[in-house]
Amino acid sequence: MARTATAAVVPEIGAPFALTGVTLDAPRPDEVVVRLVAAGLCHTDLSVRAGKLPSPFPVVLGHEGAGFVEEVGYRVTSVTPGDKVLLSFTSCGTCGNCLAGHPAYCAGFLPLNFGGARADGSGTLSGDGGPVTGPVAGHFFGQSSFATYALADERCLVKVAPDAPLDLLAPLGCGMQTGAGTVLNVLRPEIGSTLAVFGVGAVGLAAVMAAALGGPSRIVAVDVVPERLELARELGATDVVDARGGEVAAALRDLTGGAGVDYTVEASGNVGALSAAIDALALRGTCAIVGAPAFGTTVPVDVNGLLGGKRVVGVTEGDADPRRFLPLLADLVARGVFPLDKLVRHYPFVDIEKAVLATERGEVVKAVLTFD
Ligand SMILES: [Zn+2]
Ligand SMILES: [Zn+2]
Repeated sequence: MARTATAAVVPEIGAPFALTGVTLDAPRPDEVVVRLVAAGLCHTDLSVRAGKLPSPFPVVLGHEGAGFVEEVGYRVTSVTPGDKVLLSFTSCGTCGNCLAGHPAYCAGFLPLNFGGARADGSGTLSGDGGPVTGPVAGHFFGQSSFATYALADERCLVKVAPDAPLDLLAPLGCGMQTGAGTVLNVLRPEIGSTLAVFGVGAVGLAAVMAAALGGPSRIVAVDVVPERLELARELGATDVVDARGGEVAAALRDLTGGAGVDYTVEASGNVGALSAAIDALALRGTCAIVGAPAFGTTVPVDVNGLLGGKRVVGVTEGDADPRRFLPLLADLVARGVFPLDKLVRHYPFVDIEKAVLATERGEVVKAVLTFD
């Protein structure tokens, strides 16, 4: 059945979130209605709101949802009403990369996650009046979870244990998966290797925590905010480099006896940082690009500098299959070896603008909205 919800709608590019009533379309056979308990705020939400990434408007964002299954379409088999679930990105499930277990590289990733509508172009939300009436773009990452209820693709959902702390685990769906997956699924650093993370916000710190599970003997955090570097140390970084001093690649060479770093993770989205992350590579080293600058951004690369067996690879969502990977991360959190709680600060949903401000000022690493 159609259902009403309170949603944080972005009426137009750059506008603040407006809490307003929306009506959700009735679930299709492969869709699920989720009652939100919590939703993490990710930089991608803010980039879309600011117009740096493509999206129709007005739109309901939010792509780190967590909650209870309320209603399921008749073809849904993986969850039933009452189940606790985390929400992640969506994918088609039928293209070559989806079938190969790499749904983050789904051929339909952009339209399915950023298109504002289902794959067939049909809308999922409409405004109930007040600031927004008529069609509202939804289906953001297959969920649009900045709302009391979300109409989600079954493929977004990851069932978790009945005692799972949803308000803590919500950020696993994007930011934590991205940082941890880049290390655990893509780079897979060997014992005794060296690894540097550029930009230790939520994604970068997830990479640090994942690296600290084992493997690298040196984990270097690079950032311009001293408090973030301190937090990175607390979470497992063995060394820190304050990038305000410049010469970051040289500093990393000094730290590694001149060899350079085996693995670099660029999580800041800053092109200067990316250049340094490539320059700092050791022979046969790999740089993983995770941070997304504006569409169309290019970076010059010294081609001869790469000929020593070096690789540069772009990574989306940690190349994770959420249904396999999120339960692993939830287990690491429960065992206390992936201390996500050190990153999270909670805000009531109505205070979403406060959460945005604190995030933009760098006062909070991972804001998580909570719903009554
Ligand atoms: Zn696909
Ligand atoms: Zn995200």
